Amino acid sequence: MNIILLGPPGAGKGTQAQRLVEKHGMRQLSTGDMLRAAVKAGTPTGLEAKAVMERGELVSDAIVSALIGDELDAMGPEAGAIFDGYPRTEAQAESLDSILEARDRKLDHVIELDVNEDALVERITGRFTCATCGKGYHDTFEKPHVEGTCDKCGGHEFKRRPDDNAETVRTRMAEYRAKTAPILPVYEARGIVSKVDGMADMDDVTAAIEAILAR
Ligand code: AMP
Repeated sequence: MNIILLGPPGAGKGTQAQRLVEKHGMRQLSTGDMLRAAVKAGTPTGLEAKAVMERGELVSDAIVSALIGDELDAMGPEAGAIFDGYPRTEAQAESLDSILEARDRKLDHVIELDVNEDALVERITGRFTCATCGKGYHDTFEKPHVEGTCDKCGGHEFKRRPDDNAETVRTRMAEYRAKTAPILPVYEARGIVSKVDGMADMDDVTAAIEAILAR
């Protein structure tokens, strides 16, 4: 099964993707994670992407589509793919069609996480992750049980994304509205879009997604 999780930054795509990975052994293909890894490793892609990401703008379609193709090739044909943060433009949506077709895969579901944008700035600016295992936390909504210690792995180092500040978040939202939201009608015309209330409790969002996948 191949699915896209679609929604503005902070809608919960990453959290829900991780849950699907844990439950179904699907693979999460997050272009944001791939780009952050490239920036950290200092690869040519990372060097090109760094400043663009810090401004909250979109990296070139060619770069992200190449990353997605490589990642699909690196995983077995039997593993399901969860596209998280990709496609983000009409050109990327077209590329994804060709990328999937060339690998005998088809898109089964596009799940739109419907959220109230005003609430997202607080969600995003408060989030942080364990630097060791990647578990996600939030200053207000999900603190570690023991302050300074990761619930999952016991690690003591945490990190925040440099683009999770209020100013960059606003640019990222504007990019979503202008360039990403317009790809929804393309998938709606194919009858594969399902809308989920992304403001609901995280477990309820997971249950709603599971119900869609079981259809
Ligand atoms: P994300 O982790 O999905 O919020 O992505 C973080 C940043 O990486 C975005 O603000 C963009 O600068 C860049 N990025 C991630 N995915 C894409 C994509 N599919 N197309 C263009 N830029 C992307």
